[in-house]
Amino acid sequence: MKPIYFKALGFASAIPDNYFFHDCGYVKSLIDQTRKLLSEIGQPSDNDFLMRCNISPSRLSLGNGGFHLHTLNFPTTGSRTSWIYYNPLANLSLDIHNRAHEETHAACRLGLKEQLIEKIAQEDIARKQVLRGLAEEDFCDQAGLWVIKTKQIEPNPGIFISYNDRIQLAVDRQVRYQEAQKNRGAIS
Ligand SMILES: [Zn+2]
Repeated sequence: MKPIYFKALGFASAIPDNYFFHDCGYVKSLIDQTRKLLSEIGQPSDNDFLMRCNISPSRLSLGNGGFHLHTLNFPTTGSRTSWIYYNPLANLSLDIHNRAHEETHAACRLGLKEQLIEKIAQEDIARKQVLRGLAEEDFCDQAGLWVIKTKQIEPNPGIFISYNDRIQLAVDRQVRYQEAQKNRGAIS
């Protein structure tokens, strides 16, 4: 086993020696970083491949969030790797929530979900049960909110929008923007 530390969560633990975690920090483009990492490990990085991996290139291009990339390593001895990276967000609460959200994805995939639940819920058995029952995206959001509360950071109202709604709002915004660009082109 070897030590692991999640900076935004303030969560220290240990993972097996053949598990790997890389916090790549702030990046300008989530899609460029994803393609770069896939190329580095000898994987295709074109849009078709991304979509087969359930990664949406258009969503990753929106540029206002973070991403967690996870692979199982060959040969298949249970080895796995998590990378996280995120856009810099000007608002402190949105920034730390974003980072904690991605760290939580990695913690879940590296076998640390139950330990993180214990850390968040402490002795509160009912809360533990609720956290255990959440889908991963919702749990990541809850972990983000827990960090905001623990650090006594004033939450930006946007933080209370659930993950799926946030993504839909961002997609809607992008579509409206593209339509406006198209209309502008048609007028000029
Ligand atoms: Zn997520």
